Amino acid sequence: MLKPREAITALAPYESPISARAALNLDLNENLAGCAPQVLARLRRLTVEDLSRYPQRELGEQRVAGFLGVSPEQVLLTNGADETLTFLFAAYLADGYELLFADPTFVMYPMLGQAFGAKLVRVPPNADLTLPTAEILAHISPRTRVIAIANPNNPTGTVAPTRDLLQIVKAAPDAAVLIDEAYFDFHGETLLPELRNHSNLFVARTFSKVYGLAGLRIGVLIGPTQQIGYIRRFCPPFNVNAVALACLDAAIADQEFVRGYMSQIRHGREQVEWVCKEFNLHYWPSETNFILVRIGSDVTRFTRAMQRHGVMVRDSSAQPGCQGCVRITIPVGNQVDILRAAMRDSIKEMRR
Ligand code: PMP
Repeated sequence: MLKPREAITALAPYESPISARAALNLDLNENLAGCAPQVLARLRRLTVEDLSRYPQRELGEQRVAGFLGVSPEQVLLTNGADETLTFLFAAYLADGYELLFADPTFVMYPMLGQAFGAKLVRVPPNADLTLPTAEILAHISPRTRVIAIANPNNPTGTVAPTRDLLQIVKAAPDAAVLIDEAYFDFHGETLLPELRNHSNLFVARTFSKVYGLAGLRIGVLIGPTQQIGYIRRFCPPFNVNAVALACLDAAIADQEFVRGYMSQIRHGREQVEWVCKEFNLHYWPSETNFILVRIGSDVTRFTRAMQRHGVMVRDSSAQPGCQGCVRITIPVGNQVDILRAAMRDSIKEMRR
């Protein structure tokens, strides 16, 4: 009988991240402000040739490299940052090797690590759910081949100091250290300038968040020229579609849209924090477009009540240290008022 590798059959059955849809969906960290108007304008100008020809990823890589201040040889464009992780893990992980990460973090890390047969070395976070640098350093072994760190982290929204990240990069010269900067723009600190000093450092970025292009699927892997060259050998040449590539220029050019969105997020986050304070709910200081809030043992009642009020949020209880917590994407404009009202009503209903 046909059977996949054992690492695959051992994976949990697939569940779509989109469990249900509501009037206001705040469960996927999407950009509720949409995307830059120029991107839509570019889409409307697409031609038959744009669609009927194979896409030229290299042109997009040159554009993104110029924007990031690195060389095109250091850049690989991918079908979302999810694929960035897939390629990086495929290149370095296999049976007998270790994937080291602190949990809670992005759920794709353990899933992909397991799929490639790696041993998962999962270290618990600090008491405040921040990056346990000393624990990570203590768990580096000769078998460690990938260390994955989201900074800012998902689902906590917290950040780690650059010096801690560099300490980890230096301590594991034989491992690929991935700093996943999907939410970089909200925080503003990056390890990109350190690329020239380290031959094991990789940075991931995405156009799904501040650029609002989650549906187009554009991710970026930036790393040492030689290592990116190895990954390019097996990356399908047409992995990023022509429509996504056509929109890159317009997206990058409109930094005003990005700045406007980020200032709306700062405002929206404050508003949600006020509701948390009003009801004495613990939340983690976030430098992203979402916030992790501890609701408590009634979390299921809360999420159901929110859904009745037309708002989907993500129950993060299954993640280490996050029992009773929800992750709420910060909306923009009058959606913030809808969220606040739904939170207030749901908490009152839950506590009745
Ligand atoms: N990394 C992190 C930390 C994320 O939170 C996400 C999306 N939720 C991704 C990577 C993947 O982003 P995308 O595939 O949409 O580019």
